[in-house]
Amino acid sequence: MINPMPAIFFGHGNPMNALSKNAYTEAWAAIGTQLPRPTAVLAVSAHWYLPATAVTATRAPRTIHDFGGFPPELSQVQYPAPGSPELAERVRSLLAPVPVELDERWGLDHGTWSVLCHVFPQADIPVVQLSIDETQPPEFHYETGQRLAPLRDEGVLIIGSGNIVHNLHTYAWGRHMVEPFDWAVRFEQQAREFLRSGDDAPLVAYEKLGRDARLSIPTPEHYLPLLYVIAARRAGEQVSFPVEGVDGGSVSMLTVQIG
Ligand code: ZN
Repeated sequence: MINPMPAIFFGHGNPMNALSKNAYTEAWAAIGTQLPRPTAVLAVSAHWYLPATAVTATRAPRTIHDFGGFPPELSQVQYPAPGSPELAERVRSLLAPVPVELDERWGLDHGTWSVLCHVFPQADIPVVQLSIDETQPPEFHYETGQRLAPLRDEGVLIIGSGNIVHNLHTYAWGRHMVEPFDWAVRFEQQAREFLRSGDDAPLVAYEKLGRDARLSIPTPEHYLPLLYVIAARRAGEQVSFPVEGVDGGSVSMLTVQIG
């Protein structure tokens, strides 16, 4: 039997990682060389957070520069991976009866391309993005991930892109080597323990995990992509953390790989 394609949550962090060569980006590139070649990538990015479930359905998704205040070079980055209307349609059928909009306006946002430009620098693997419906509770996102899990047997790499700890109020922009906040370290550690033991329920009900979780997840959009990835895990399947670190004191760069 052929092994299912891994599913991976990437902590994307600062958009400038797209242009940087650092320990995170080198580790992302190494993941790309170790993976079997996917037939396509289905990406759930923190930066497509809207009141609907939608998939990008164009043949040539545009590169979206959805940020402000960064150097102009970042706005010139292109990630010209093809789309896959076929995968978009497949996602829609797997999620039925949840209505899924076939979107022709969005494209690939920096949550997706700032990581994929290192993982698959050739940009030759089709990429489809799935939005996060901001009106839905965490259980919905986990269940959606479960329904997408069969894609792994079709060679599709499911990725989530966000950050397990993402607090920009406390983030040290432009300052290097700041110590991580104790609450950030504790929450990431707690999350790792749940991930190692395959105990998904408290990760889904993260709002009940107390003060460390509230500080680490002040808004849900960077955390929720994790739920899509862990929901795709099979019984007994291995989890690993191929990228680790806390950036700027309060952004966890942890990568979580299933399979
Ligand atoms: Zn982000």
